[in-house]
Amino acid sequence: MAGMRSKVLIVPLTRCFVFDFIEDWRRNVYGVLSSISAYIDVEVWPEVLKLPMSCFDWSRKQYVGPCILDYLADLFRDLRDGGVFVIGVGYIDAYDEGLNFVFGEASPSRGIAFVSAQRLDPVFYSTSEYAGKRYDLYVKRVSKEILHELGHLLGLGHCSDPRCVMSFSNSVFEVDYKTMYYCERCSTKIAEVLS
Ligand SMILES: [Zn+2]
Ligand SMILES: [Zn+2]
Repeated sequence: MAGMRSKVLIVPLTRCFVFDFIEDWRRNVYGVLSSISAYIDVEVWPEVLKLPMSCFDWSRKQYVGPCILDYLADLFRDLRDGGVFVIGVGYIDAYDEGLNFVFGEASPSRGIAFVSAQRLDPVFYSTSEYAGKRYDLYVKRVSKEILHELGHLLGLGHCSDPRCVMSFSNSVFEVDYKTMYYCERCSTKIAEVLS
């Protein structure tokens, strides 16, 4: 496997609050990964891929996380067989059994993940407090969650370093506290996978 390039594909799941930001996320994800390994490309899927309403739970007004993963795994099966990591990003709210919500979920065995960005938007919690820095904060938060889910796809678990992007976040406060970067231990593991 030495010297084999891997590819990360970021797939927009909504147009709203995703399409205009996706190049920023791509750049951030590539920036972090390329500092760890030379064997990775990050690309954006050129079209919006609408999620089926069969994945929407009308009683909770949220998408069902595992249903999104199944849908993406099915659609991108051929790419997956070629070693591509697929991460869907949508301006949606999602949950999984036993959880009120998730910022994202990953299925490492299938190389598929998603990030549900609605609760990462400062406007979800406040309309005035973040007025001036909404764009930057939103870009950063979603970048972190993409890199977090990607870490899972690369075989990483949660990290006890609260500044590491692989630390688990229960709230946006924890998302804001962690950096966009993998700690040294997590970086080393990624470098091994992507070499
Ligand atoms: Zn996680
Ligand atoms: Zn770490």
